[in-house]
Amino acid sequence: MAPGPTVETPNGPFTLARSCDGCTLCCRVLEAVTLNKPMGVLCKDCVVGTGCGIHATRPDECRNYHCGWLIDGSLGPEWQPEKAHIIITYDLEGRRLNAHADPLYPDAWRQEPYYSQLKGWAAMALPRGGQVVAYLEKDVSVFLPDRHVELGVLGADDFIFIENLGEGRWDARRLGREEAMAQRQV
Ligand code: SF4
Ligand code: SF4
Repeated sequence: MAPGPTVETPNGPFTLARSCDGCTLCCRVLEAVTLNKPMGVLCKDCVVGTGCGIHATRPDECRNYHCGWLIDGSLGPEWQPEKAHIIITYDLEGRRLNAHADPLYPDAWRQEPYYSQLKGWAAMALPRGGQVVAYLEKDVSVFLPDRHVELGVLGADDFIFIENLGEGRWDARRLGREEAMAQRQV
């Protein structure tokens, strides 16, 4: 498969692994703050199956967004967003992998092969301080090597806390700001 375009990032030019090739899933599934577009609502400028109808003048928020499928050439074909019904994104400088389910397919990340791959990525990420988090709109579930933990909708002051219980066992829960600050001082 031909590589995608080279884009500017805060760390310099980066050649994407792929192009969108007619996928428009993020224009419906993800929030676009500058467009006042909530999650799960199709952007009024999206031409489904083709791309952005205002490509030349789209806001920077859209211009600068590249999902995991575009960034990570090692993802298998099952992760094409419209096939998976899941959009992969990264944040916390790449330490957190987010899997956003298409609200039309709310069980998307509970299906195989996705569920096992997310658990496998959690097994690799957790010992390095990373996280693997699945979303259904604002509903949050944290992946551990052997299961997922549903945390529900997090408040603005809530944090995801993942605890190493030893012997390969992990747990996850939400912490309020004060409890999270106390944990950092331990
Ligand atoms: S989900 Fe990824 S591949 Fe699909 S339109 Fe958005 S950026 Fe492109
Ligand atoms: S402006 Fe274009 S890229 Fe941005 S959400 Fe709308 S259709 Fe998608």
